Amino acid sequence: MKYQELVDVFESLSATTKRLEKTDILAAFFEKVDDETLPQVVLMSLGLVFPSWSEEEQGLGEKLIMKAIADVIGVSIADVEDQVREQGDIGAAAEKLYLKKAQTTFFSQALTIDFVFKHLRKIATVSGNRSTSRKIAIVLELLSSASGTEAKYITRIIIEELRIGVGEGIIRDAISKAFNIEKSVTERAHMLTNDLGLVAKVAKDQGEVGLKELSLTPGKPVKPMLAQLADGIKNSICEMGSAICEVKYDGIRVQIHKKGNELNIFTRRLENITKAIPEMVDYIKEAFPNEDFIAEGEMIATKDGKPISFQYILQRVRRKYNIDQAVKNTPLNLYLFDILYFKETTLDEPLYKRREILENIVTTSGKIHLSEMAKIDENNLDDAQKLFNKAIAEGNEGIMIKNPNEPYIPGIRGKKMLKFKAEPETLDVVVIGGTYGVGKRAHFIGSYLVALNDEEDNELKTLAYVATGLDDETLAKLTDLMNKYKVVEKGTKIEVEPRIILEIAYSEIVKSPEYQAGYSLRFPVVKRIREDKGLHDIDTVQRLKTMFKG
Ligand code: ATP
Repeated sequence: MKYQELVDVFESLSATTKRLEKTDILAAFFEKVDDETLPQVVLMSLGLVFPSWSEEEQGLGEKLIMKAIADVIGVSIADVEDQVREQGDIGAAAEKLYLKKAQTTFFSQALTIDFVFKHLRKIATVSGNRSTSRKIAIVLELLSSASGTEAKYITRIIIEELRIGVGEGIIRDAISKAFNIEKSVTERAHMLTNDLGLVAKVAKDQGEVGLKELSLTPGKPVKPMLAQLADGIKNSICEMGSAICEVKYDGIRVQIHKKGNELNIFTRRLENITKAIPEMVDYIKEAFPNEDFIAEGEMIATKDGKPISFQYILQRVRRKYNIDQAVKNTPLNLYLFDILYFKETTLDEPLYKRREILENIVTTSGKIHLSEMAKIDENNLDDAQKLFNKAIAEGNEGIMIKNPNEPYIPGIRGKKMLKFKAEPETLDVVVIGGTYGVGKRAHFIGSYLVALNDEEDNELKTLAYVATGLDDETLAKLTDLMNKYKVVEKGTKIEVEPRIILEIAYSEIVKSPEYQAGYSLRFPVVKRIREDKGLHDIDTVQRLKTMFKG
């Protein structure tokens, strides 16, 4: 099938912000596409060529892509940069430049979806000697056969920003619609496999029956179940009837997969961090029997046995070199709290049973622990408060309040699991722009324009400028990141791709017509850069509205 057909679909998708229209457009196309191409189309519609949890990366910066465009069209890099500044993104710039040159430079040999998909994948797998120039050669091969609109989307997929307003929810709905499948069945198949390409293929070939047979597989990470904020300890427990309360450790959440002899550790964004923490692999292998399993826990960094700042653990898991040194300098501890698979899926078991399984199979050690917990009902409600006080006194964030009778549902944030923290709730937002400071701070971007996701149209909506809470070191780091992701710069203002996630505290949510969210924040303060979170994890306008009403 011609790549141009997919590109036409992308163009129609960009032309509407309506979710239902987008779903219809995609569903009609999914029906048309053959078996082999369908998973490719699904991934590319999400701007990907590997499942989101894959370790593969294209590894080409924007500068190199701009150079490739310049080479193919026969203009200078400065021309491409000018156009990028004018258009606001590389893809649109490429399309514009192709238009200018089209009649003189190219004759297009039709690209197929399969060819583009496989070549984009090849970019990621090239490694070793002269890998950058070999990667560029593939980009050049693609771009020199592309039309302007094709080039727009090829470059956008390489820089991982498709900009067609399609997320996983729309793809799921489109699969359901195209192949006449109950939405809940598609959702569950997606939750369990985390591979929408596979879900689409099975939906097409085997319908609901096939989808119902899909299950968890050790080695393929699933989206973690997330927590809602509890408005109080006692009332939350009373509402549940009974609860398992656990210490909320302040580290990073890990999902551990063992399949055969292979053990992999993923973050909540499903990044594989196994190589950075080899000592943990050994400790975990010692702690579990030699069976396949998927377990979850919180990994924290410690010094003299006490938890230390969250940033240390981020530095550790991102480390690519001198890992031995890091193992010595920043010791890690793991607090296990759930088991999703042991010999077979345990996901559907109620939490109290999963906890029993975990307790029965894990041999704890100085490094591998079970999360500290208390079983609470109306007769011992005070013990929950005691656990909270103890947790805080020991330097933890608060407690989790979990419904013991509920199964594990990947990817949802619901009432089955609540969190109660000592500090007021913060918001996770994405930076989309900023302003350079003045005087001593003229070289730093001092003020950051942040945005939330609007679930209704899947668009980012501006929320506030944040300028406090940043020490010089963080300012320098953020300024570097802003330059890396820069799209346009005008005077002291800069616009960036939505890549940097900040956690911000504030004194109050207020209504505000000035910002697209319709609300803004009083006295916003940056708490930290959330490198463990991605664009999909940021807070939503809908949640903000609920918080405002609350
Ligand atoms: P926060 O921003 O509060 O850290 P989050 O957005 O990362 O939270 P939430 O779902 O809001 O994620 O809070 C649950 C998180 O708390 C889990 O993802 C996990 O990382 C962490 N956590 C710490 N201890 C536990 C525990 N005992 N059980 C479950 N989660 C725990």
